[in-house]
Amino acid sequence: MIRILDKAKCSGCTACVNVCPKGCISMKPDEEGFLYPHVEQSECVECGKCERHCPQHIPIRQELKAVKKSLENPVYRMARWIIKRMKAY
Ligand code: SF4
Ligand code: SF4
Repeated sequence: MIRILDKAKCSGCTACVNVCPKGCISMKPDEEGFLYPHVEQSECVECGKCERHCPQHIPIRQELKAVKKSLENPVYRMARWIIKRMKAY
């Protein structure tokens, strides 16, 4: 699940949630309780419908790719491995 990074631009209007044909966007609260879209990337078919309906013109697919790339960083991979191991106990 990946959060839309450009929180400054996102108005939380939920248009992207409502138009996604895969239902893979959901609104989740941040640390301060404001709702922002999160995308289940494994479900996303990159149709671009969310972007076409976003009044703020946020490049959602581009953001997903940027986040995915950052998660491929070896430090993040190691951190995820450690968290997964800790949850196993
Ligand atoms: S690009 Fe992905 S997240 Fe956006 S509407 Fe299409 S399936 Fe949903
Ligand atoms: S449509 Fe755009 S502005 Fe509205 S919640 Fe989705 S990303 Fe944010």
